[in-house]
Amino acid sequence: MKVLDLQCPHGHRFEGWFASAEDFESQLSRKLVECPICSATEVSRLPSAPRLNLSGATAAPAPAGAGELQARVMHALREVLEKTENVGDRFAEEARRIHYNEAPARNIRGVTTAEDAKALVEEGIEVMPLPIPAVLKEPLQ
Ligand SMILES: [Zn+2]
Repeated sequence: MKVLDLQCPHGHRFEGWFASAEDFESQLSRKLVECPICSATEVSRLPSAPRLNLSGATAAPAPAGAGELQARVMHALREVLEKTENVGDRFAEEARRIHYNEAPARNIRGVTTAEDAKALVEEGIEVMPLPIPAVLKEPLQ
């Protein structure tokens, strides 16, 4: 048997029991499927609700809460920090030197003023503002 979630044009939701999906289609085309509330026969099938797997370790409760999201953001930021060279307040200067091939090409990070950042962008130098949480400013291991 197959339990299908059904809905009529009036928004009534109900369950229908059929031998198979084909059986449902067949009964539907012959208008044998009708809403138990208003008897409408223009019934449509709703996507089945996901069945919860309650057996086994994969069902361990692990809601993707704010804590997990924050952990992911922190992880991503940390990766950026590990792959960039910190040039501190020489950021604008270093970015220009790299852009004009006066320094080895590499990814750098640092601090700069809004005016400097704007000037860099106008010169065609890519800069990306990155909000670094204070906790990540500690020395990396
Ligand atoms: Zn109905």
